[in-house]
Amino acid sequence: MNPFDSTLQRSFPTLMVPTREPVAPMAAAGERLLVAGNGVFLEILRPWLRIIRRISSYAVSTAIPYGVVEEATELLCGRVPPELIRTFAEQARAACPNETGAWIVWHPETKAFRLVRVVVLSLDRASLRYDRPQLADGEVLVADCHSHGHFAAGFSHQDDEDDVFDVKFAVVLGRCNTAQMDVALRLCAKGIFERSNNIPASWLDAVGDTNDYAAT
Ligand SMILES: [Zn+2]
Repeated sequence: MNPFDSTLQRSFPTLMVPTREPVAPMAAAGERLLVAGNGVFLEILRPWLRIIRRISSYAVSTAIPYGVVEEATELLCGRVPPELIRTFAEQARAACPNETGAWIVWHPETKAFRLVRVVVLSLDRASLRYDRPQLADGEVLVADCHSHGHFAAGFSHQDDEDDVFDVKFAVVLGRCNTAQMDVALRLCAKGIFERSNNIPASWLDAVGDTNDYAAT
C-alpha cells in the first residue's frame, strides 16, 4: 500500500472483534475502530481516559461473525478536584461580564492536577478566542473551562465547533454575577458530545459565592 494510507491506517486501525476472547488492550494512546457483531465502536485511549462508544449500527440484519462490544468509560485520572473548579469560579466571577477560560491539566506520573489560565487572544461579552496554554512535559488536558459572563451556562454552536476534535471534559460557568453560578458539563471525544445531567455536588458547592449575598 502507498506510504500515506499505510501511515494513516496504522494511526487509526480497525479491528475485527473476536468471539472467544476479549479484544487486546490498546498499547498506546490513540484511537481505533472496533467492528463488532453489535455495531461499529470507537475506542479512545488517553493517559487520563479510556472510552468505547458505538458510533454506528448495521442498517441490515445480516450475520456479522464477530464478538460483541460494550460501551465503557474509565476515568484513569480519578476525580477532578473541586478546589480547581472553585478557583476557576473565582476567575470567572472576577472577569464577568467578560468571558474567561482555563484548563485543568493532569500529569500521569505525579497524578497531580493543576489549573492553567488560557492565553486570551480576544474577548468580549459573548465570545472568547484563546491560545492553547503551554503545558509541562507529559501533562495532558482533562477539562477545558470557560465562562459565559452574565449569560447562562450551556454549549453554543461555536462551542460545538471548538470542541469537535478534542478529547476532554468541557465545563462552562454561566450567570457569573450571581451567588450560584450555572454549571454545564460534557464529555467531548472526537465529535461525540455527552452532556452530563449530574453535575457533581462538590462542583455546585464550589461555584457558590463564599460572600453571603442573601445577607446584603
Ligand atoms: Zn461557550
